[in-house]
Amino acid sequence: LTTFADETRIALDTLAGRAVGLFSPSLRLGVTGLSRAGKTVFISALVHNLIHGGRLPLFEAQKSGRIARAFLEHQPDDAVPRFQYEDHVAALVDDRIWPDSTRAISEMRLTVEYESASGWNRMFSAGKLSIDIVDYPGEWLLDLPLLGKSFAEFSHEAFEMAELPVRSDLSQAWRDLSAGIDPNADADEMTARRLAESFALYLKACKQDERALSTLPPGRFLMPGDLDGSPALTFAPLPGLGEARARAGSLHAMMERRYEAYKTHVVKPFFREHIARLDRQIVLVDALQALNAGPGAVADLERALTEILACFRPGRGNLLTDLYSRRIDRILIAATKADHLHHESHDRLQAIVRRLADRAIARANFSGAAVDVVAMAAVRATREGTVKQGRETLPVIIGTPLSGERIGDETFDGTTETAIFPGDLPAKPAEVFSRRDRDTDGSDPLIRFVRFRPPKLERTAEGATLSLPHIRLDRALQFLIGDRLA
Ligand code: GDP
Repeated sequence: LTTFADETRIALDTLAGRAVGLFSPSLRLGVTGLSRAGKTVFISALVHNLIHGGRLPLFEAQKSGRIARAFLEHQPDDAVPRFQYEDHVAALVDDRIWPDSTRAISEMRLTVEYESASGWNRMFSAGKLSIDIVDYPGEWLLDLPLLGKSFAEFSHEAFEMAELPVRSDLSQAWRDLSAGIDPNADADEMTARRLAESFALYLKACKQDERALSTLPPGRFLMPGDLDGSPALTFAPLPGLGEARARAGSLHAMMERRYEAYKTHVVKPFFREHIARLDRQIVLVDALQALNAGPGAVADLERALTEILACFRPGRGNLLTDLYSRRIDRILIAATKADHLHHESHDRLQAIVRRLADRAIARANFSGAAVDVVAMAAVRATREGTVKQGRETLPVIIGTPLSGERIGDETFDGTTETAIFPGDLPAKPAEVFSRRDRDTDGSDPLIRFVRFRPPKLERTAEGATLSLPHIRLDRALQFLIGDRLA
């Protein structure tokens, strides 16, 4: 039985909680995706557009003129590196080169002063929202399943994956090295290091391979952040481990201890200190690259997305539940780089991503947060035009290909504007999922994909540069923060 005092306290706490929710001036937005998905470019473009009053018709607060100003403030977490916004924008705008990609976690705080749309909110809220943007590698998220696995299970699975036909050539050197190892031999630092280095090389080779293989844990072997070379990363799976416990002083015992240390000192704190505190999340996916690489790569992207969504699934059966109780209430899955397509294909790309997300949601048995999808370009590097070919008028995209890019026999030098016909995506998303690798031999990609330089920005009569052009960045913003500026 609860006493009257207890009940009063619960009621007051609930009220206070609501009040904090209502008046809370901050929102933590996680930005993730596998490497090269477009995280750095997305954050730079989002902040630049808000600070410089970019054209954002689908972002209601901006469209209705209720945003007074947006500016950068000191981030609340002193121990986390700051997102190098100024450097990235200078690269994009002044040098017209793509900025350095995400290598580790970083953070920045953007504060928006606005006038609330409703009289009630105007009376009670300060009209100020601080958005803490947290940028982190998707590879680190994929470490979560390790928390539920022993060293023997991890080792067993790692060898199983490595022996699959798609990976066997890439893993050969590491497997050969492992074959000559006796886990029961005395622990030896040099052996541990050789094995760890060889294993890491294999994981990296999977990542760089054009087969676009899925990312395998441990994530820090691919994106070490500041842990490069530390003992927590000097381990590798061992062959032929049975049920038997490791002999004290053996290589097996040493590797097992380091694997457990990796979980305790790297994986858990990352989830507890960073992921557990997020309110909203955007997951960037390079769907175009996967579509171009073929059905195998699309299936792989779906698998990665499933694993990522599983990390954010609240409630029972989630390894994270004992780490946190707060939950993310909105997740946006965004295919960026849509400026590589003519606008007629933007909706098609979005439909394909929706299908991909639906399948991943079903597979991850995901519920809880509202999930939306968008096909966008955080920075639009192309414009559209038409080219006459005989009697036909073809829709084309026009941009400056990066130096070294090639189309047919032509190699570009990074200064010439070119029109290319990018090709169409299938009108029915189902076609993408029913294709098989054997239907394509890789010589006939869906879209012609050329990397372009960032766009040249227009200047006003006063010499100020205008904000970075984009495609549907405003739609992403509306979903991620629009309701908090209502
Ligand atoms: P990260 O590893 O997730 O931080 O990826 P980046 O943000 O560094 O993006 C990787 C690369 O993708 C960039 O260097 C660009 O070449 C390309 N890219 C990212 N976003 C866009 C975009 O919106 N439009 C175009 N055209 N290219 C993009």
